[in-house]
Amino acid sequence: MNYIVFDLEWNQNPNTKMKINKLLPFEIIEIGAIKLDENRQPVDTFHRLIKPVIYHWIQDSIYQVIHVNYRELQRKGIPFADAAEEFMEWCGDDYRFCTWAKQDVMELQRNMRYYHMLDLLPGPVVYYDVQKLHSLSFEDGLERRSLEHAIEQLGIIKDQGFHRALSDAVYTSRVLMQVDEKYLTGYESVDSYQNPKEKEDEFIYVSGGCEKYISREFANREKAAADREVKSTHCPVCNLKTTLPPGSKGSIWNLGSSRVYYSLTACPEHGTVAGRIRIRKTEQNRYYAVKTLWVASEREEIWMRQKIEALYNKKNKV
Ligand SMILES: [Zn+2]
Repeated sequence: MNYIVFDLEWNQNPNTKMKINKLLPFEIIEIGAIKLDENRQPVDTFHRLIKPVIYHWIQDSIYQVIHVNYRELQRKGIPFADAAEEFMEWCGDDYRFCTWAKQDVMELQRNMRYYHMLDLLPGPVVYYDVQKLHSLSFEDGLERRSLEHAIEQLGIIKDQGFHRALSDAVYTSRVLMQVDEKYLTGYESVDSYQNPKEKEDEFIYVSGGCEKYISREFANREKAAADREVKSTHCPVCNLKTTLPPGSKGSIWNLGSSRVYYSLTACPEHGTVAGRIRIRKTEQNRYYAVKTLWVASEREEIWMRQKIEALYNKKNKV
């Protein structure tokens, strides 16, 4: 499997008085990517500038960051559909996307949907968020750093600028090359921009003691949270149903802030299983659940237990 480390630059509505195109709030104007082989060694690069068709000048604040101007894009850019098709062709058959943070994977799909070409990239899309892998490898796993911070921290030579698609992709690939191999299994991210609509499309991805499940759509938040399959807990390793450990108070799922539910259950064979459910809203105002179940480390178990206890005490005014 090849690692496709990519970065996008996009433009947005340059003027608040101008009507924003709701289908495409961010128009991609540059794709840069580097391909790493299965040993995480660079083998090829990809770069295209894209001729904008929706927003007809580059917003000042964006120009200040990326230093591409509208005339240059008109002169050197190609239509997005061509660039995206060439990009997907270049990725090959056996690849995984890797990006710094989460937004690029979603914006690529949103732009491809605008041009009716999502058949080239079916979702949900499994990818590596290199910003997260960097935190797991070199920070506490929760902190999120800028790419420039990571480059300095790891002593990577700054031989090119930042904030251009290809150079940011190259830097991201250099961070990925240093990530501890053990974080490449069980720490994948899943982008649910193309979320399942019906029961038979529901999505399950299992990797290294971690399972991600994405439900079908529901009419509202409450229905999604109350669904039997959404609420079920089991061990991601052996699939046995898990239950509350003896002495636990309250219910399996505990609603925290930002509409996230947390759980701690036990598998007799594999120990403590942590769980998290997020209810998400689609652009069409429908709802679906993203559930993650994973075999918790001792540190995660303590963190989750404290969190759940605080939620329980708050709810029951202890
Ligand atoms: Zn188990």
